Parts: sequence; C-alpha cells; structure tokens
Amino acid sequence: MADLRGGIDLGGTKIQTAIVDSGGEVLGQARRPTPTDGGPAGVAEQMAEALREAAGQAGVETAALEGVGVGSPGDADEKTGVVSGAKNLPDWDGSFPLAATLKEALGTEVRVGNDVQVATEAEFHLGAGREFESLIGVFWGTGVGGGLVLGGKPWLGRGAAGEIGHVVVKHGGAKCPCGRRGCMEAYAGRSAMEAEARRQHEDGAKTDLFKLMHKHEKPRLTSGIWERALDHGDDLAESLIDRAIEALGTGIASSVNLIDPEAVIIGGGLGVRFGERFMEPLTKEMGKHLFLDEEPPAVRVASLGDLGGAVGASLLFTR
Ligand SMILES: [Zn+2]
Repeated sequence: MADLRGGIDLGGTKIQTAIVDSGGEVLGQARRPTPTDGGPAGVAEQMAEALREAAGQAGVETAALEGVGVGSPGDADEKTGVVSGAKNLPDWDGSFPLAATLKEALGTEVRVGNDVQVATEAEFHLGAGREFESLIGVFWGTGVGGGLVLGGKPWLGRGAAGEIGHVVVKHGGAKCPCGRRGCMEAYAGRSAMEAEARRQHEDGAKTDLFKLMHKHEKPRLTSGIWERALDHGDDLAESLIDRAIEALGTGIASSVNLIDPEAVIIGGGLGVRFGERFMEPLTKEMGKHLFLDEEPPAVRVASLGDLGGAVGASLLFTR
C-alpha cells in the first residue's frame, strides 16, 4: 500500500479528505464541518479524524500511507509545515505547526501547501488542464484565489504567488476584503458581492436574494442562491454578477498578458456553477484587454469538483 497517499482540503466551512492511489483514483473520502471553536488544535484534530475515516474506507492504516498533503488557506509554508494568518479559520491569526501536529496524530509524513495552488495542480495533472503545459487556475468563490503551473511545474514565487484576486482592476476602486482598493476580488468575491448586495438592498434596491437565502435556510448568499435569483430574473443579482464577470475578465486578461499561459482554468464554488453559463461574456470581456487578442488562451471549467482540493493536496507527495 506504499503508493497510497492522503489529501486534506482545509476550508473555512468544511474539511474534505481523500485517499488517492498513484493513478489519481480516490479510494476513500470523508468530509466534516470545520469546527468553529477549539482553535487550530481543534481544527487539526478534526482533520486527523476525517482522514482516518477516509483511510478506513480505503482499508489502510494512516501510518501505512506514503504521506498526507494538506491544502490550506492563509500562508502555508511548505518548508516548515507552519500555517499562519489563515483568517477565515477560527482563531488562526497567528502561526500553528500544522504539519508537525498532524504527523504526530497520523503517524506519517505530512506536507502543507496553498489550497488554491494544489487544486490548480490537481486540474493540471488529472482534470481540465491535462493537455496543457502552462496554466493559470482561477478559483472564484468566497474570495478569488489563483494558482500557477508554468512549463509543467508549479510556480510558487517566494511562497505567495498566484494571488490573482488582488490584481487591481480599478485604481482607487471598491474596498477589498484584504483592506486595499480596486482588487478583482472586491468585485467578484462571493463575500464582497454579498456585502454590496446588502448595501444596495438597504439603499432600496429590489431583490429576492435575501428572501431566497432565508427560504433555503442558508447563512449566506451561496452560489446556489445566486443561481436561483438569476433564474428568476432578479435585477440586482444580474447586475452584480455582470460586474463580477467584468472584473474577472479584466483581471484574468491582465494576468494572461504577463504570463501568456496556454490555458485558464476556472474553478471554485461560483466558478464551477457559472463557468459554462458565463463563458461567452467572460471570454468577451477578457478579449477587450488581451494584448494578443487573436490568440487567446483556452478557458476551461475545472472538472474535479469538490474533491479537487483534497486530490491536489495528495499530489504534494509527487512533486
Ligand atoms: Zn484585495
């Protein structure tokens, strides 16, 4: 069983784990909510539990795994295994030795990597990016994350590459959750879109977005709620999604001008739900800003779905 690896995708709301063989096949998987109390240690404990459950399904002891990779938000230091400033995780403003803690709990090697980067690598090796040598991954969800594969290899920069959500699309523009102004995420991130919808609704704009949210008992405007509102012809939802597409097209095209990749892979909760539906306006918007507009890169929707992050994390042991 030496060729089996574990992968853990650590998200703000859920922990997804998978046991993956050397061909990329998933032999076991488990998911549980990210605990909101107990801090980083409590989160690590649930991660270990969820991985044990997946390993049980695959019929393997965690100690027999070749290793376990973790895709983490915040600043995940691949060299030290320390995760810092993961602000969307409970009480995780400081640093926590995640790899060392999990190694102790699971009895096998643990590596950490950036969640979006590993999901991009999963699409590159096994998903929508398989036929390409270079690509930009754009994960359109709560925020807008990015990952890079150049010449067949992951590009991490000094550790913080791929922050496509903070490419500026409007100088002095809308306030971004990062505190700066005019970032792509300030227009396209799900949280920023929700804040703007709330603001306009309080100013009197008509919308069913919040009615739908309550009716379906969601704590926030999920991608499913946005889709329902669009299907009902909700004007505010339409205008905010159009604004998001415009920002995405602008920011992605600017990044393409710099990198010149063969492909752009669109993933994330909103990206997977809306990628095909808005492919035409998105590529049209990109076209306005592409320097080489006769030769645009391929734009594809991520194909690995919810498991992509965990599978990508397991690939940290194949790099
Ligand atoms: Zn920003």
